[in-house]
Amino acid sequence: MKTLRRLSCLAGMLLLPSLFAPLGADARPLPAGSLAPLSSLLMPLPSVVGAHLIMSRLSSAPQHARAGHVYVLHGSVVNDGSAAARGPVVVHLLRVGTRPLAIGRTVVGLAAHDSTDVGVRIRLPRGLHNGSYTLVACVQRAGRSGKLGCVTAERHLQIGPRSRTRAARVSAAAPSAACSSGAHSLSPFGAHVYPETGNGGYTSLHTDVYLNYDTASNLFLPGTHVVLSNQATQCLTDFSLDFERTSPNTKDGPDLTVGSVLVNGQPASFTFVQPTYPGDPNGQNDPDPRAHEAGQLNPVGGPDNNPLPPACSPELLSTNPNKQFDLDGTQCPANKLVITPSSAIPSGASFVVEVDYTGRPGVHNDGDGTTEGWFRISQQNDAGGFVTTEPVATEDWMPLNNHPSSKPTYDFYDTVPLGKTAIGNGELVSQLANLPDANFPGGSTTWHWHSPEGIASYLVENSIGSYDLSVRLSSSGIQYYEAQDLAIPKPKAAANKAIMDMQEDILNFQSAFNGTYPFTTDGVVIGVPAASFEEEMQTKITFANGKIDLQTLHHENMHQWWGDNVSEANYNLTFFKEGLATLGEYFFIAANAQAAAGGSAAAFEQSLVNTFNTVYAGSDLLWTGAPSDPRPYTLFSGSKTYRRPGIAYIALRLILGPANFNAAFQQIQSTYRQWSVSEAQLESAFESFLPVPSASCRARLGQFFTEWWDTVYPPGGGANRPQITGPGLDGGGFHC
Ligand SMILES: [Zn+2]
Repeated sequence: MKTLRRLSCLAGMLLLPSLFAPLGADARPLPAGSLAPLSSLLMPLPSVVGAHLIMSRLSSAPQHARAGHVYVLHGSVVNDGSAAARGPVVVHLLRVGTRPLAIGRTVVGLAAHDSTDVGVRIRLPRGLHNGSYTLVACVQRAGRSGKLGCVTAERHLQIGPRSRTRAARVSAAAPSAACSSGAHSLSPFGAHVYPETGNGGYTSLHTDVYLNYDTASNLFLPGTHVVLSNQATQCLTDFSLDFERTSPNTKDGPDLTVGSVLVNGQPASFTFVQPTYPGDPNGQNDPDPRAHEAGQLNPVGGPDNNPLPPACSPELLSTNPNKQFDLDGTQCPANKLVITPSSAIPSGASFVVEVDYTGRPGVHNDGDGTTEGWFRISQQNDAGGFVTTEPVATEDWMPLNNHPSSKPTYDFYDTVPLGKTAIGNGELVSQLANLPDANFPGGSTTWHWHSPEGIASYLVENSIGSYDLSVRLSSSGIQYYEAQDLAIPKPKAAANKAIMDMQEDILNFQSAFNGTYPFTTDGVVIGVPAASFEEEMQTKITFANGKIDLQTLHHENMHQWWGDNVSEANYNLTFFKEGLATLGEYFFIAANAQAAAGGSAAAFEQSLVNTFNTVYAGSDLLWTGAPSDPRPYTLFSGSKTYRRPGIAYIALRLILGPANFNAAFQQIQSTYRQWSVSEAQLESAFESFLPVPSASCRARLGQFFTEWWDTVYPPGGGANRPQITGPGLDGGGFHC
């Protein structure tokens, strides 16, 4: 059932001059908007029946706040419901892995459609352990009952020394006098899985996204822009971003226009060019048209037998396997946004790029003919967008360095029609009403989400629409966001919520293998579009088609460690994280078997053995392609990316022993935290946990990886599959 309950906050807004702009020293400027006469706000609006309190903002603690001291935080509370309410505002101190502490409290009483500013006195406890803490203020919707609405102070509280910072990860720039263009790809020579994405010559550090999005027309309005903070790793005459403005998919693809580009505040020239195959010795401006052609494989082939590697993966308009090579040998679209600043950027310099754009966001057609990206929701009273983007479609709604190894942190400032909800990665910092302006004659709300953790290109979430959004604070210091499209029928929404509520248990279960959860938040967004897949968007897992299922939630939540915190260094390593997420499903099945057997640990282990043996005996499809060498057409379509690596990890767990296996997991999580990992790095990390680290055992393990991850077998059975398995498993076991 659709409801329009959030629309009523427009009426409440009249009383809320203090909410028209963010307050507090740490607030960032909102997108500019001209103010319209207040009289335009006096239209009658549907109302939320009953009380409906929300927190709309909370100031940060002082930069150098100290344990044992008292501070006053300032926030705002809104009642956008039709009934008065009275209840506590509680400020909690959260740190992942510890129980939340209530450190301040005040009581607010609000009439219908009213708001108030509050000051909350907090005392930071003495004896806090070193670490990063979040300050979270919450109210209950009905005052003393109902779902929680919380906001998080933007600046975290740091007690003691900071742990290793992301900045330290930026590779030291090589000193060089010569300035040149940044590379238009992050892939190596010969790569044939989305080689067109990613951009070299700089590291992406942070991105601010400002969307002015009209849900009814599905358009980005004037003022929409991104601000990308980068650091040069060479002296740059020019550099590139990925941005798909138009698509052969004229119905659902993007139709976007860049208005201007600034570099360090100065106008910069820009143009769009085709990608070139990585490592082209003739340079990125190779006049040979064959250097810019699409292909599933290396070489391109196609009707003219192009001997060169592909410059891009084809954007197939059909999933028909008989058509997978149809676009091989065609020209790649000009999706590289090349920016030339007024003067060269020195090696090692920080620089800020602003790209202003408008138009219609859309979906990308992949090398397998499926689509992903910005799915429009155009049902009456339920307009908006649902974003799920693996592997490359973030570039269909914003310009970025579009590669899984590029992981800037993010802030999202989404201005949307009043009554609509915007959901981004990480923590909700504020939701603030704006007066009507040229973009939003009916008024608008700016939603600010903050991700303190870096996000890989395909895991950036930004769904906007009619969502019921709430949050839970867990005993382990993590905020769990739950969002469902309001069009989902109530009985289904209730069933969905029961599964979403299990996310904390799933996370705790998976932490026993993976170690400490890597983010401050987790959550689920259930949308209504018929996107053909679920996705592990960082801290906001997306489910399509209005429904969620428990086993898939296990899969996607496992990804928060594998794929999200530790990402694949390139697309051909998709099997690495999909195999681990599949292992998450196998762990879930094993835990069910354990529960059915009265808690027997042996039943857990036997379930994994059974899973291995069943899949190992399975079809040729697992074996007739190497997981580490997929083609775009088959990247997500099956057993080579999912089940084959999934059972390989079961074997690896028995080779290392469960305790060593968990230790290896946790070391990889720590070493490659908020970064990406290559196949060689992964194999080396597991090898260092071999119980018998002899030369022959290490060689045997190397052979195991080669067989399971890199080898193509001919069709058939028996020897036409990996022969090195694991102790107690079918196949040849593991001897060294
Ligand atoms: Zn997955």
